[in-house]
Amino acid sequence: MLRVKKVSKVYNRKFKALSDIDLDVNDGEFLAIMGPSGSGKSTLINILGLLDNDYTGDYYLDNQEYKDSDDVSMSHIRGDKIGFVFQNFKLLSNYTVFENIEIPLIYSKTQTITDRQTVINEVIEQVGLQGKENNLPSELSGGQQQRVAIARAIVNNPQIIIADEPTGALDSKTGHEIMDLFRHLNETFNTTIIMVTHDKEVADFAMRTVYIRDGKLYQDQQSVVDK
Ligand code: ADP
Ligand code: ADP
Repeated sequence: MLRVKKVSKVYNRKFKALSDIDLDVNDGEFLAIMGPSGSGKSTLINILGLLDNDYTGDYYLDNQEYKDSDDVSMSHIRGDKIGFVFQNFKLLSNYTVFENIEIPLIYSKTQTITDRQTVINEVIEQVGLQGKENNLPSELSGGQQQRVAIARAIVNNPQIIIADEPTGALDSKTGHEIMDLFRHLNETFNTTIIMVTHDKEVADFAMRTVYIRDGKLYQDQQSVVDK
């Protein structure tokens, strides 16, 4: 499980982007984080995803505290435990589908090409991209590109997927297909999913939604309205 306690983040020594965030995310949970633009969503998931260690407060992953971790150990834990999915896919445009998915395996030192091939074929099937292995991202639709990004995020078998507006660049039907895939990964592999979205219909695919506004976290919509 992932837990943060009293997490606060200040930019430029004056702007308080997050204040006293407490959040527990259970293993196997599918959590949506909603909030208006500028409310602190990206700041929060960068901390949850071990991309940022410049904050105050406590951070625990699997009961281990990662306060004051250095960049190298953070990147190791990230590579081991967390997969990232972004709004704009962030695929390498000169690499094929296969090669994009292969990148994390090269970093994690999965040794032989045969081993890599086996794992990549498995995730390609999971995300439904059979036959597209040798295509370039530009030859795919937006939804297919996001499937490649999801395959790349899961190829190392992460415990957690962190997704920042994963449907933001997709039409609503395609977005819902991507949510069906997230739900499938969540149910089949018990992968924890933490997803930022603006879209209520997309958030409805999650088991639980929390709300962020002006850097404060609320566990339900009503407490935001009442505040
Ligand atoms: P969201 O993802 O909800 O749009 P962000 O986490 O990106 O919000 O930003 C929260 C607030 O912090 C915003 O007011 C934004 O302008 C500010 N902010 C974000 N990143 C930086 C930064 N690197 N330097 C200064 N201010 C920042
Ligand atoms: P999002 O679409 O996820 O809300 P933003 O457009 O708010 O992202 O921000 C994109 C990136 O720019 C963020 O990662 C953040 O670190 C940085 N950023 C946002 N606001 C500021 C700011 N006021 N000053 C410097 N950097 C910022």
